[in-house]
Amino acid sequence: MSDYYNVLGISKGATADEIKKAYRKNALKYHPDKNPGDASAEKKFKEISEAYEVLSDDKKRQIYDQYGADALKGGMGGPGGSGGMGGMGGFSSMEEALRTFMGAFGGGGGGDSIFDSIFGQEQEQQSSVQQGASKKMSLNISFEEAVQGAEKEVVLTNYVACERCDGSGAASASAIKRCSRCQGSGMVHQSRGFFSMSSPCPTCHGQGKTISDPCKECHGEGRLKKKQNVTIKIPAGVDNGMRIRMGGYGDAGLSGGPPGDLYVYINVEPHPVFQRDGDDIIIELPISFTEAALGTKKEIPSPVGNSLRLDIPEGTQPDKVLRIKGKGTANVHGQGHGDLLVRVTIETPVRLSEKQKDLLKKFAELETETNSPRKQNFFDKVKSFFKN
Ligand SMILES: [Zn+2]
Ligand SMILES: [Zn+2]
Repeated sequence: MSDYYNVLGISKGATADEIKKAYRKNALKYHPDKNPGDASAEKKFKEISEAYEVLSDDKKRQIYDQYGADALKGGMGGPGGSGGMGGMGGFSSMEEALRTFMGAFGGGGGGDSIFDSIFGQEQEQQSSVQQGASKKMSLNISFEEAVQGAEKEVVLTNYVACERCDGSGAASASAIKRCSRCQGSGMVHQSRGFFSMSSPCPTCHGQGKTISDPCKECHGEGRLKKKQNVTIKIPAGVDNGMRIRMGGYGDAGLSGGPPGDLYVYINVEPHPVFQRDGDDIIIELPISFTEAALGTKKEIPSPVGNSLRLDIPEGTQPDKVLRIKGKGTANVHGQGHGDLLVRVTIETPVRLSEKQKDLLKKFAELETETNSPRKQNFFDKVKSFFKN
């Protein structure tokens, strides 16, 4: 992970104005429209956009200064790891990076016109590079997999770049011709009095080129649908409804555009014994009334590791929650662990034998008010209702 200050070529103490100026200079230099087809420029553009997104925001800048970039990313990396592929921070797409760029110059709703004013002529050279579509899928996992983390293999049917033509769509390099109608720009312009309108070229469909002899494999599209096995890494502590982004696992782009992303929505199956509350795990533990009265030790199952010994103190009341520190799930963002919460329920004995009944009757004779303080308290409160 490169240092955001280095990326923008500024010092750690740079003012907001300096940051903006540095960003503008770099963004204009590495903008994809100025460097068509240059993957390293595109990468650089994303980097500086990301750096700017953080450093232009006082709060984010503070977090970054103190804890580094990872603190802003949330640690939900997909298989892409920290190489800018996974991660919930960063930019999911070129589009997003471009939006940041325009946002920096006050572009609200009218993004396009600001774009025009910065790039003027250049926009007319805009190629038809297109990011591939992003995909959504939902994934069912067990409670244990959510708590412990897991790797799941799924089959995706995505567009991938055609190997035969290297994504060009043409049977040979000589079969690619510059579109004569739009002179390769992919756009045609029409004047309507005062205004000039641009629209994608109808001859080449905005591609800027025509193919006289299309690739036999992909029929000129440059990409084709293919089944792929993909392993999804599920971080420990993931919870129902969370989303994992797998950067680059969507469809391949068009005309050398970047691939889309895959968004995996996690669906955690309910567990018969355990429940989740954030990073805490809740388990309900039924005990007998003698155990509650006398105190006991219990073996508590744990979905995280070995079972745990728990002391139930003498005189434990129904619904008492006993907390075992640090034995919940790992926090999905790497911030410690939750607790295991044991909610004690107390069962009134049923199907008593004659002997048991006799013993309980004897016990009842010995019972005093102080054995049941809540009961006593209740009757003290309602006594006045019985006076008349
Ligand atoms: Zn054309
Ligand atoms: Zn092909």
